Amino acid sequence: MNNIYQNIEPFVQLIKDSKTIVLAGHTSPDGDAISASLSLGMSLQKMGKEPIILLEEYGSSFEYLKGHNMVYKEGYENIQDIDLFISLDCGDIERLGLAKDVFEKAKNTVNIDHHISNNNFGKLNIVNPSSSSTSEIVFEIIDYIGNIDLDIATALYTGIVFDTGGFKHNCTTKRTHQIAGELIDIGVDSVCIHSNILTMHSLENSKLLAKSINNIYIENDIIISTLSNEEILSLGCTNKNTGGIVQYLLDTKGMNVAIFLYEKEDKSIKASFRSKAIDVNQIASKFGGGGHILAAGATIKDMTLEQAKEAILEEIRSV
Ligand code: 5GP
Ligand code: MN
Repeated sequence: MNNIYQNIEPFVQLIKDSKTIVLAGHTSPDGDAISASLSLGMSLQKMGKEPIILLEEYGSSFEYLKGHNMVYKEGYENIQDIDLFISLDCGDIERLGLAKDVFEKAKNTVNIDHHISNNNFGKLNIVNPSSSSTSEIVFEIIDYIGNIDLDIATALYTGIVFDTGGFKHNCTTKRTHQIAGELIDIGVDSVCIHSNILTMHSLENSKLLAKSINNIYIENDIIISTLSNEEILSLGCTNKNTGGIVQYLLDTKGMNVAIFLYEKEDKSIKASFRSKAIDVNQIASKFGGGGHILAAGATIKDMTLEQAKEAILEEIRSV
């Protein structure tokens, strides 16, 4: 464990001293960003605070979590006089999306994250790339505050299960399992959470997986697939139905690097990188993104799907 513990006490003091507190996860929030935000929000409420959570729209598979009523639905320009802004699961300030403007207006800022690419953009930084997930770091914080309950535990377990792929990615540590054990002790329904987060999928998800398998290109141990916006729409799907595809590609026997690209409505390209060997954080950073050594992402604005595919392959060929 890095020295995150020494920053927890000053963080808790900042919470106590602040009135208007804003929490935000990254753009296109995933299970870790959502769970870290909701769990910390619930803990702050139990401390008598009224936190505002900024999260872009997320899928119905997280409906079973509590605390959605803290998520702010109005224009962000209405949020004023912010004492404390807490960024969760963001490697850099750009990952905050529209919430970046709110971050810049805040008196104090705290950056809680586990990405190796994190550039310590907060006034206070609680960053540990050895933690499986931001939710794992938030567990350490709430454990210190001492007000964990079943709803908070359920959210934390969800974030940890999501980012570890069910305790199977290499970010999973002894501490991750210890924390999971403590959360199960509190009463979380681990079977239900695993099903909701990992195994259950929609028919739309299956349709896009099938299409993306049709579009596979393989070069040595690199597997890459793409979906255009037109292909996504023609199947009656949205790009929210692409979860799990890149991991499925990586799990193909003999493959060591998987890339999945899809085109968004605004023509930008969302790239997901997964690896069993090479550092894909480095590759993603060449395209303005980042993440972890074996799992990273980027949004590419100035290329077509085919150009992005070729540019990424070129980058990987030169590693
Ligand atoms: P995914 O491929 O699932 O979107 O992301 C994989 C990992 O890379 C996640 O930890 C995610 O937070 C991170 N990531 C994805 N896109 C970006 C990006 O554009 N910039 C940075 N810094 N990290 C990203
Ligand atoms: Mn995460």
